[in-house]
Amino acid sequence: MTLIDGKAISAKVKEEVKIAAAGLSAKGVTPGLAVILVGEDKASATYVASKEKACVACGINSYPYHLSAQTAETALLELIDELNADENVDGILVQLPLPKHIDTNKILEKIDPSKDVDGFHAVNVGRLVSGLEAFVPCTPLGIMRLLAEYGIATNGANAVVIGRSNIVGKPMANLLLNANSTVTITHSRTKNLAEICSQADILVAAIGKPNFVTPDMVKDGAVVIDVGINRLENGKLTGDVDFDAVAPKCSFITPVPGGVGPMTIAMLLQNTITSARNRLKRSK
Ligand code: NAD
Repeated sequence: MTLIDGKAISAKVKEEVKIAAAGLSAKGVTPGLAVILVGEDKASATYVASKEKACVACGINSYPYHLSAQTAETALLELIDELNADENVDGILVQLPLPKHIDTNKILEKIDPSKDVDGFHAVNVGRLVSGLEAFVPCTPLGIMRLLAEYGIATNGANAVVIGRSNIVGKPMANLLLNANSTVTITHSRTKNLAEICSQADILVAAIGKPNFVTPDMVKDGAVVIDVGINRLENGKLTGDVDFDAVAPKCSFITPVPGGVGPMTIAMLLQNTITSARNRLKRSK
């Protein structure tokens, strides 16, 4: 069994980003990422802080917008309009979840698709499904990079994704399909889940339930990717996979923490670089 080291691969991606950012800055295009946080949710504030810190460490300008929980939807839409028009901003990220009085879809659809570094805009979703160049959500994009780094073949592989969210499950399934896997998407209403999962060469768990994936759901020699981040009562972080019981059956497995998690921010930075490169091309 090989442990997939997301920390090491994310460090490699960040190093690539640093070099690319310096090259772009030398040509007068310093990459910039606007990060919008609405409200005081603690977990969101922590995520946003790590994203802003990672930008600065890699030579990307960070434009933080920390707004009160009472911010009106119209005010947020106006801010996005301003950022859409701002030449120095290559990426716009709105940290989710938003307060209940704000329509999340309306906000995400307001972001210019060419600055949608989270890949949540319907234009980018459609482009991904069509197999066109697109901004792809960072977590599944990071998983594809992990598979590539470890030489894990997707071509013809039987891939099963547990979870159908717009952030992880659906884009993950589309990326694997585009990479020639035979893909099954499963979810909370799926019948015979364990049986379906036990056929998988590549099993991706994105559920949000600790220790959900047990050894009976895993084929001998499978690649198991654990996206889950669950905080246990004792404060410990754990994934969706019963790691100790499942790991001995796997050819490759991601740990939690230190597997998929670190890749998400690294791919956000990479997407921002892609957008800045597009800006440079437009300016020529
Ligand atoms: P979500 O709640 O939007 O989706 C969960 C999915 O799990 C749903 O599609 C649901 O149908 C499915 N599900 C729930 N119960 C099930 C069951 N009993 N059997 C089969 N499927 C079931 O969550 P999400 O945003 O996709 O996130 C999933 C997990 O991944 C969470 O733990 C989240 O914290 C984590 N996450 C991690 C990263 C990262 O950077 N590593 C990024 C995003 C999400």
